Amino acid sequence: MSSPERVYSYSATLMGSPILLKLFEDNQQAARAVFRLIKQLEDLLTVNREHSQLMNVNHAAGRHHVVVSEPVFELISQAKAVSLLPDSCFNLTIGPLVKRWKIGFHGDQVPSLSDIQSLLPLTQPEKVQLAPSSCSVFLEQAGMEIDLGAIAKGYIADRVRDLLRQMGIDHALINLGGNVLTLGSPQHAMQNAWGIGLQKPFGMPDELLGTIEVVGKSVVTSGIYERYFEQNGTIYHHILDPNTGYPLNNELLSVTVISDDSIDGDIYTTLLYGMGVEKSLCYLSTLPHIEAIFVTKSGEVILSSQRQFRFTLLDTDYHLA
Ligand code: ADP
Ligand code: MG
Repeated sequence: MSSPERVYSYSATLMGSPILLKLFEDNQQAARAVFRLIKQLEDLLTVNREHSQLMNVNHAAGRHHVVVSEPVFELISQAKAVSLLPDSCFNLTIGPLVKRWKIGFHGDQVPSLSDIQSLLPLTQPEKVQLAPSSCSVFLEQAGMEIDLGAIAKGYIADRVRDLLRQMGIDHALINLGGNVLTLGSPQHAMQNAWGIGLQKPFGMPDELLGTIEVVGKSVVTSGIYERYFEQNGTIYHHILDPNTGYPLNNELLSVTVISDDSIDGDIYTTLLYGMGVEKSLCYLSTLPHIEAIFVTKSGEVILSSQRQFRFTLLDTDYHLA
């Protein structure tokens, strides 16, 4: 029998990210099933390889419909709906620009203005045709490419949670390269909430700005310090503004979203990023199930409300607004 006080950690590298699973029992079989599921879903959704169901859709742009499996169809449908929200800076057809910038990959550099201008017309979410009856997708224009990089991890984290629950596991944590999803509370007498570190922007990997305590919630952070390159003193990061084709540029260093589902965390980090602090706070007052932590370039930490989490600031370079 394993003691409920003990944490069992299982790790793997999948989707180009470190994946960590924490359980309160030694259950290799569950860990294997989780990693297998992540790999299966990654194989469907990746755009970082020549072949996947999503790449089949992209390769057929301007030519023909492609039948995809249900999860892929569902995720594309949801991504299209979010992209079409008023003033949304989330854009599922951002692919051609992401590929051109190559941010975080070998050969990243600032593209020429004319390159960006020629790619912008390919990023039109309304040109993603969806046929639910046949589960098929058609990109109307040649050269269009769907990129689900902003939401794939959240979607997969939610499916992992479903699988863990099916296996009767109610207390666990899964960290999918920064998307943290917790099930229940830690099964530990000394600890009634999970403590999740918020990384210090541009700090060392283990340097924390603060900790976030949650029970049974998803915690997702998008920050400009996660993947970027520097050219002539300017930082170019991986969240692009679909209006300009350049990285989003406002007062924010990072947005963290606390929600029930990790896909919501992924969607809202990108949406709120684009809105900036003031608009976001106003918007969040209409969304009781979504909470956020904003970190600004001027060293402020702004919390939406603290009904579903507790935040402790650790770094003295920053202050709570
Ligand atoms: P991370 O992989 O660091 O968790 P995010 O969840 O913040 O990153 O998503 C960033 C990724 O989303 C980019 O690498 C790119 O693939 C994609 N992306 C970039 N800009 C946009 C955008 N405006 N809308 C949708 N997806 C985007
Ligand atoms: Mg994300």
